[in-house]
Amino acid sequence: MSALDTPPILTLTEVTKVYHARQGLFGRAGDPVIALDRFSMSVQPGEIYGLVGESGSGKTTVSRLIVGLEKPDGGRIDFSGASIIGLGGTQRKAFTRAVQLIFQDPYQSLNAHFSVFDTVCEPLVIHGLGNSSERLTKVCQTLQVAGLQPPESFLNRYPHQLSGGQRQRVAIARAMVLEPDFLIADEPTSMLDASISFQIFQLLHRLRKTFSVTMLFITHSLAAARHLCDRVGVIYRGRLVEEGTATETILGPRHPYTKALLEAHPRFGNHDPKPLSTLREEERPVPDASHCAFYPRCRMALDAVCDRQAPTLRQLEPGHRVACFRFE
Ligand code: ADP
Ligand code: MG
Repeated sequence: MSALDTPPILTLTEVTKVYHARQGLFGRAGDPVIALDRFSMSVQPGEIYGLVGESGSGKTTVSRLIVGLEKPDGGRIDFSGASIIGLGGTQRKAFTRAVQLIFQDPYQSLNAHFSVFDTVCEPLVIHGLGNSSERLTKVCQTLQVAGLQPPESFLNRYPHQLSGGQRQRVAIARAMVLEPDFLIADEPTSMLDASISFQIFQLLHRLRKTFSVTMLFITHSLAAARHLCDRVGVIYRGRLVEEGTATETILGPRHPYTKALLEAHPRFGNHDPKPLSTLREEERPVPDASHCAFYPRCRMALDAVCDRQAPTLRQLEPGHRVACFRFE
């Protein structure tokens, strides 16, 4: 695996994103939502980095900012050593080829009126790559790579004629047909059964191995991240709270929130749940002053510390960082 001291391929530095909610039913604007709060992370070339957090923590916002679907309100985003904000002309075109996004829901992300061939070929057309016979060859090769075999039998099918797993493979083929350097998979299996999800993980693993594509894998499941990722970052309410190798973070979590995520996991379907050791059942009132984002829910919070300031990430061991005053 690439060493942490090689320059990262992607860096987010102190990125802030605030959404101004639409007007409410009675014409009042809602409170602004701070989706990302001085959020920093970086991804090394060739690795699979897992960004893990519960729903609403800001994961999709990270992916939308990276591909330019949203603009940050503060901070910077660099790809291959250059800022992606304000890229123009040929540089933007090269960037939109190099970075591809796979969405959560293959039912929504595929155009119902496009055949599999049209769907996978479209990026080649947009980027003006190949003539029609070269495009057909490339589409078939890519379908094969994505595990849709024999590829010819899929070319003229439409999304409604495919299973959920096959649709997600088509979406992956569409992303891979441009031979990107960087793939973002935003909860790519959350709409799929466990066994199909596992096959998609195996496919992503194989893509990394075969094409050395770097991946940002976004998930709410630490178990999924452990299967697939080299490193993991845990995001809580728009801030990175812990980061380390997948094994370290999942076998030896330090942040109370990471511990709660792990403890909660095997409890699904448990009808007599015990309280989680690090997570309060009810939130504490939020102090006015700046405070740790997890303070309201944390059972381990230190009085007169966690409610007074926000912790920053500190290194515990090489490559393992945690933002928690318990470790200062
Ligand atoms: P995740 O992908 O981790 O579930 P998101 O990045 O989608 O989280 O959302 C982070 C926060 O920003 C949530 O509180 C969400 O409600 C809010 N949010 C996301 N998109 C918008 C939007 N377009 N307008 C207003 N609020 C939004
Ligand atoms: Mg999301």
